[in-house]
Amino acid sequence: MSQSKTMNRLFFYMKRQRLLYTGLTFTMLLGVALDLWIAWFLSSVTNAASAGEMERWPFFIGLGTVVLLFIGLNSYLDHYWKTKVSVNIRKDMRNDTMEQLLKVSVPYRDDNHSGELLSRITTDNQAVGDGCGHTLMSLIKNPILIMASFVYLLLIHWQLALICLAIGPLTVLIGGIFGKLMRSNTGKLQETLGHMSAFLQDVLGGVAVYKTFGLERKLLRKFSRHNATIVQLETNGGKVEGAATSVSEVFGNLTFLIAILVAAFWVAKGSLEVGAMLAFIQLMNYLVGPFMQLPGQWASFQGSLGRADRIFSLLDAPTEVENLPEEGYANKVFSSLTMSDVIFQYSSSSIPVLDSVCFHATGGEVVAVVGASGGGKSTLFKLLLGFYPITTGKISIDGINIAEMSLHELRGYFAYVPQENHLFTGTIRDNIADGKADASEDEIINAARSANAYDFIMGMEEGLDTQVGERGTRLSGGQKQRISIARAILRNAPVLLLDEATAALDNESERLVQDALLKLMAGRTTLVIAHRLSTITHADRILVMENGRIVESGHHTELMRQRERYYQLYTTQLQKEVNHQEML
Ligand code: ADP
Repeated sequence: MSQSKTMNRLFFYMKRQRLLYTGLTFTMLLGVALDLWIAWFLSSVTNAASAGEMERWPFFIGLGTVVLLFIGLNSYLDHYWKTKVSVNIRKDMRNDTMEQLLKVSVPYRDDNHSGELLSRITTDNQAVGDGCGHTLMSLIKNPILIMASFVYLLLIHWQLALICLAIGPLTVLIGGIFGKLMRSNTGKLQETLGHMSAFLQDVLGGVAVYKTFGLERKLLRKFSRHNATIVQLETNGGKVEGAATSVSEVFGNLTFLIAILVAAFWVAKGSLEVGAMLAFIQLMNYLVGPFMQLPGQWASFQGSLGRADRIFSLLDAPTEVENLPEEGYANKVFSSLTMSDVIFQYSSSSIPVLDSVCFHATGGEVVAVVGASGGGKSTLFKLLLGFYPITTGKISIDGINIAEMSLHELRGYFAYVPQENHLFTGTIRDNIADGKADASEDEIINAARSANAYDFIMGMEEGLDTQVGERGTRLSGGQKQRISIARAILRNAPVLLLDEATAALDNESERLVQDALLKLMAGRTTLVIAHRLSTITHADRILVMENGRIVESGHHTELMRQRERYYQLYTTQLQKEVNHQEML
């Protein structure tokens, strides 16, 4: 994104803080005036002392005290408002980024790692906020202070003032060169930090795997590589900033020394008062100091713009909805679902994952989808839920093409029990209540009862208020499943999408989960991806999927009679179970 475009977009956030920026303009101008006042004070006191006018001392002391109070108050407000501006801009951007994260399409999420996206809402956001507060205000204040000091210098001694001017163009040049270098370096650094955060998220989520496979050293080596790149880029950043600072310091101090030598020469010749020289030195500080800081501040601001680019590119990502829908879903009446000639391929692959898929399900039916892994069963669900748009074929619910429905309307038909039960950090109550907006305590308890979860929940010390831990890690697989089922029961949607868990549970948990599922399925149309074929022998229809095609369809007895793919799958699985039992 070009720099002016980034600035324009940042301006949108800054405009909302116009009151604070107005306050900051006031404190900044007052700050400059107070700085100049000190130069005036120095010269007045020195000249008064030289002239032996000691009777003016009480006046100077009184004035000094009052002005110091002003300086204190002004500094406080200036600092506080700058921080407040940063905080507010960060808050607005964080909210927008979070909303955007919830709106981005599933294909975008497939292509972008969560950890990398996370770093935009955390570290990038932090840096942009800093850039719009302290850094930006210094970048505005310093040129004003420089100009005001210069005018004052001109009034004191115009020849001396002109010597100080030499530093100006040089600083602008240094700022330009180093600012560009800094922006590019910060961009790369942020990208690497994003990769590192993605890597860390993967690692932290895989504690059991890395511990049991002894991957700690390997992961540490990988981490060190990320770390080395970060060190390299940060060191480069340090070099650029260091070079900018050193060049400006050398030239700044050189200007300062030359000006002082010339001033001292004029004092010796009697054409400059001592008081004026003191004021002059003070003003030189206001002029040279900010000049020296400008390149570094400019570089840092450029860095913030680089971070802002990353946030804006996320804010520009394709979204599946324009506005977030209302919470929860209205109850739907459902009578039929049809998929006709659906061909689908993921953007990252060139071969279709679903190939001319057709099927029909009516109200109350149980349709099971079976077949080897990779056959396209989960993709079928994802299309029903509108995660990916289909290009060929049609899916319709109650005769309406889902492409013509809003996603909110479409998803209102479904409750989903995924294979990997995702619970959110929080209490068991919160997780069950996610099934329905404003669920009452009774509804939550009834859902937990129907899901055979109530007894184990009550057996826990804090009952429904028990914390489930990160992604539900404090619960067993069977317990998580039953909470997930309770959530779906509360959801009370007419069509249930059930991705049967592959992980085997102990017999008792299995029985409780199966029983809960039967209660959940009652009175609903259910599409179930089944891994254990023994659980679906009573399904109204079984679809056998292979390489994206439905190769067989019918009732269990029918398909067994045909003695083709389903028969093979079933007998192989049965044989495996028998072998397994014998081994035990
Ligand atoms: P199943 O549920 O039957 O195991 P899936 O529907 O998950 O099969 O996957 C079908 C095929 O689609 C697989 O080859 C898989 O690699 C591919 N696939 C699944 N999800 C994606 C995705 N998000 N992007 C690209 N390819 C995918």
